[in-house]
Amino acid sequence: MAEQRLVILGGGESGVGTALLAKTKGFDVFVSDKGKIKENYKQVLVQNDIEWEDENHSEEKILNANIVMKSPGIPDKAPLVKQIREKGIKVVSEIEFAAQYTNATIIGITGSNGKTTTATLAHHILKEELNVGLAGNIGDSFAKQVLEEDFDNYVLEISSFQLDDIIDFKPKIAVITNITPDHLDRYDYKFENYIASKFRIAKNQSKDDYLIYDADDEVIVDYLKKNPVQSTLLPFSLVKTIENGAYLDKENNIKITIDNTQIIMPTNKIALEGKHNVKNAMAASTVAHLLKIRKQTIRESLENFQGVEHRLEQVLKINKVQYINDSKATNVNATYFALESMSAPTVWIVGGVDKGNNYQELFQFVNEKVKAIICLGAENETLMSTFGNMVDVIVETQFMSEAVKIAYKLAESGDNVLLSPACASFDLFENYEDRGRQFKNAVRNL
Ligand code: ADP
Repeated sequence: MAEQRLVILGGGESGVGTALLAKTKGFDVFVSDKGKIKENYKQVLVQNDIEWEDENHSEEKILNANIVMKSPGIPDKAPLVKQIREKGIKVVSEIEFAAQYTNATIIGITGSNGKTTTATLAHHILKEELNVGLAGNIGDSFAKQVLEEDFDNYVLEISSFQLDDIIDFKPKIAVITNITPDHLDRYDYKFENYIASKFRIAKNQSKDDYLIYDADDEVIVDYLKKNPVQSTLLPFSLVKTIENGAYLDKENNIKITIDNTQIIMPTNKIALEGKHNVKNAMAASTVAHLLKIRKQTIRESLENFQGVEHRLEQVLKINKVQYINDSKATNVNATYFALESMSAPTVWIVGGVDKGNNYQELFQFVNEKVKAIICLGAENETLMSTFGNMVDVIVETQFMSEAVKIAYKLAESGDNVLLSPACASFDLFENYEDRGRQFKNAVRNL
């Protein structure tokens, strides 16, 4: 067989992982990144004799590929991607490419919010009894793990961008946590395109595969009515009784029924707080039950799972004020659940880059739970006028350290200070992790 020429666009974690895997499978690999490739990745490429370039795209060489792996960060509208498609070159995502080289059971988790939490929690439960990797947007790339670890099972956190470039990828178990408007700039500002992209996770599934989804999410339920899938459906719900799937009973127990086998778990001992986390726990436990993990193991794992950094992370208690880092709340829906889960009066730090936010959904919780607002970043003017007459105190700043100092002054014994920005972080920070770390440092320096 003639050598296959694989071009990888984007020299980040998924690009470099794919390059390593492809090289061992006999591909002629070329990595091209329009930005700068990080030093440590460059070293890996050099050590493995993989050709690369950065701050450039050599078009002729790229258009000579027979297959292109595109980093999820590169939009389809990019002129180079258009040219690649026009030439009829096959374009795939990392998960599509890497999945061909493993026979492992794949659990694919997508949705607008809760992917990382649900994937990490599912992995946390499964690893007690199974040989299982955790990949996707988390940690080492899937491709690298397929090459170096060869797990029997993988829990993958999968974004809609990864799903856009799958062809045959088929998870044995798929989860859609919820669907709310996000990233619409990549979907021609059409919500229906984004919804369809999420449902691609089930497109190759048959009735022997499973789709776990939130039955309280009207967007999901509506779509499924109009576009039935082959997969065996396992819905979960906080408000309805579910015969095959999971629900919350009147005593607040999670009941999961699959093929007439039932497990029941109390929610009062779940370490994570908030209704949204009960949903995440239901989804992750349904995965675990499907894979025959013992009830006792699931129960204990839910009790000792401490959550993921930057997602309603309890940072510190100072003078009986709890500081909470929810920097990963980059959209209104995530902040909705954060505010909903606040059980004490809250000083709320909000703001950043607005992705076309509609803040109306938050009004009820702001009225009920928020005593003061600190606006932080590019959207301050909008936030001040939107929330100005709902709270006694509303102030603005462009510095995290100042925001935290103001919060410290405003909060009284028993209150919470919550960073849940509802916005992206690129105005003042490198990314949401940087924002969360700056918040935590400022709190520790109080
Ligand atoms: P993702 O990986 O999909 O971005 P995360 O688990 O990182 O999701 O959580 C992102 C944000 O959304 C956090 O602020 C978190 O508190 C909130 N969140 C987590 N789970 C859910 C859910 N099921 N529904 C709504 N918001 C959620």
